[in-house]
Amino acid sequence: MNAEIIAVGSELLTPDRVDTNSLYLTQQLNTLGVEVRRKSVVGDDRELLAEEVKFALQRSEILVLSGGLGPTEDDVTRDAVADALGRALVFSPALLDALTGRFAKLNRKMAENNRRQTYLVEGAEALPNARGTAPGQWLNANGRAVMLLPGPPHEMKAIFEEDCLPRLTRMLPPQVIRTRFLRVAGMGESDLDQLISPIYKPYTNPVTTILAGAGDIQVHLRARGGTTAEAEALLEEIAPRIEERLGDRIYSRDGSSLETVVGHMLRKRGATVSVAESCTGGLLGQRITNVAGSSAYFVGGFLAYTDRLKVNLLGVEAGILALHTSVSEEAAKAMAAGARARTGSTYAISVTGEAGPESATGVPVGTVIVGMAGPEGDPHAERYTLFGDRNGIRARAAQWALDYFRRRI
Ligand code: ATP
Ligand code: MG
Repeated sequence: MNAEIIAVGSELLTPDRVDTNSLYLTQQLNTLGVEVRRKSVVGDDRELLAEEVKFALQRSEILVLSGGLGPTEDDVTRDAVADALGRALVFSPALLDALTGRFAKLNRKMAENNRRQTYLVEGAEALPNARGTAPGQWLNANGRAVMLLPGPPHEMKAIFEEDCLPRLTRMLPPQVIRTRFLRVAGMGESDLDQLISPIYKPYTNPVTTILAGAGDIQVHLRARGGTTAEAEALLEEIAPRIEERLGDRIYSRDGSSLETVVGHMLRKRGATVSVAESCTGGLLGQRITNVAGSSAYFVGGFLAYTDRLKVNLLGVEAGILALHTSVSEEAAKAMAAGARARTGSTYAISVTGEAGPESATGVPVGTVIVGMAGPEGDPHAERYTLFGDRNGIRARAAQWALDYFRRRI
């Protein structure tokens, strides 16, 4: 089913206010399997609003309005919806009782204009508002469900959850949502999308969304079906193909972070790791120690920023740096080997590179070399070209280093 949201209020058309109610409503409706196809913001203008409501009801099965239910002349939602449907506004003695009671309890006299809030669009049910004076309204019009909700976010949410959700759930076909969640490292977002969009593009169910930040990509697949089996079957149509295409770039399927996954691998092997960092300035050690209990496998590391410290702290041969510069496979391998030798850890990871904005060694900004030393074979290293500003490159360098390590051990 499709829904439409209209946020009412002239203040939402000023530079000072944004319509956040529709974000909440969209999220709620999506969870019910309802797609929000259109939303609009309309000022406190009865005619414009009535027109908008009319159009909305031609297009969508569910219409949610928020705002404009206050007591003042400029609160026109009730009138506009009645106009659009060709219905009258009907006085509700029960609403008047409730409102009078509310004011009495607060020891205040009800203002005359609050009476406006005791009128319902003909055929509507009142949705009580425990937090404010404006009750919501629910009505059916030619098979469409229409909700009028107050503008203040906490009132709108309470009424939606208490009164609209149960009604919508009854009205909508039962449905089950099944999801798959993949976390991917070692590639950029656009490369990933190029790789998997031919698989997911033809499908609207499951819905595939890709979230990315600093080289950490999350792929969400969300399938809706009448039963669990149906939703699972829809997922099975594309999820295995995406997983196959991404291969070992997928590092977790349960939401675990990359450092958590790496920690698990080390624990399983009873192994330890140390780090030798240059351009990341400690970010790699920070990532590893994000995980509670990482002291079981992380011994520590070196922050060797200058050539002199790479030589003095890590035992990198000065000749290697003179010949190849510090941003080289040779330097990265020697840094990893040095960290491993000096800490006695099972493995060591090194990272060196040019984060910019200027290059100190002459190699292009964004060049990052990740090295690794371990008990099996000689130290090895790999060169990457990473995008971003200085901090983006540094964050990615730590991510790529962790992922390189994950894929090699
Ligand atoms: P009442 O006047 O009884 O409080 P109302 O339904 O007339 O209710 P409005 O006057 O339109 O509500 O808005 C009241 C408050 O709620 C304002 O502060 C307004 O900024 C906020 N508000 C209204 N609509 C939205 C929206 N779509 N998103 C976020 N805030 C909103
Ligand atoms: Mg208003």
